[in-house]
Amino acid sequence: MLRIRNARIQSGSFGPRVQKVDTLVLHHTALDLEASLRVLRYRDVSAHYVLATDGVAYRILNDDEVAWHAGISMWRGRKRVNSRSIGVEIVNLDGNRSPYPETQIAALIELCQRIMAENPGIRPGNVVGHADVAPKRKVDPGSKFPWKRLAADGVGLWPRLSSAKRIGSKARIQSLLEQCGYPRPHGFGTKGGSFVMFDDPKSPPAGVAGVVSVGTRDILRAFQLHYQPGSATGVANLTTMRLLEGLAAAQ
Ligand SMILES: [Zn+2]
Repeated sequence: MLRIRNARIQSGSFGPRVQKVDTLVLHHTALDLEASLRVLRYRDVSAHYVLATDGVAYRILNDDEVAWHAGISMWRGRKRVNSRSIGVEIVNLDGNRSPYPETQIAALIELCQRIMAENPGIRPGNVVGHADVAPKRKVDPGSKFPWKRLAADGVGLWPRLSSAKRIGSKARIQSLLEQCGYPRPHGFGTKGGSFVMFDDPKSPPAGVAGVVSVGTRDILRAFQLHYQPGSATGVANLTTMRLLEGLAAAQ
């Protein structure tokens, strides 16, 4: 059962909400509860909720405030996902290694349903993981996260397999990924201590260091981490193709 406690942010690491909320982003904290609350309430990042393993959700910010959880990111062709999203940080040291306890997942489903009811702009196809909106840079909430179970309760989408008989071209795969909301290929790097994102990884803006190129393979790996976690290779097999076509058709 979900219990919500107030744990108001103590730093200035948030902003006013200008755009309408249409996305819900789920994360794992990679820290225990105490450290998660310390970082997200007192440092230079934040979230709307931290969900502990025992099902208690700590409310740090209100929905009409912008939390700093997703960083450089893109979803449905729009950058700066923070401005349009609610961020939930789920306490788990590494969702690619540690399973999420039942109590926590049951509370998470209740919390997400509540957030979606309060923010009707969030449709199931816009309930995503940090890795979905920031491929290559982020891997949370990880391969142990039970996306299929959440989707069965209306929190996120789960595709029916298409009847594809062959694996499509790279261009076809990229096009399907974008129909599902995933980013187009891009680059990112750092400038003046902050991350910046740009369209052509081959021509970064002046002064950008540590350039990383994010291509279809990286974006497909994020898709697989969510829908085909046992095969998060970045290379499509026939099941990937069927899932991808199925998800595109469900949008
Ligand atoms: Zn994250």
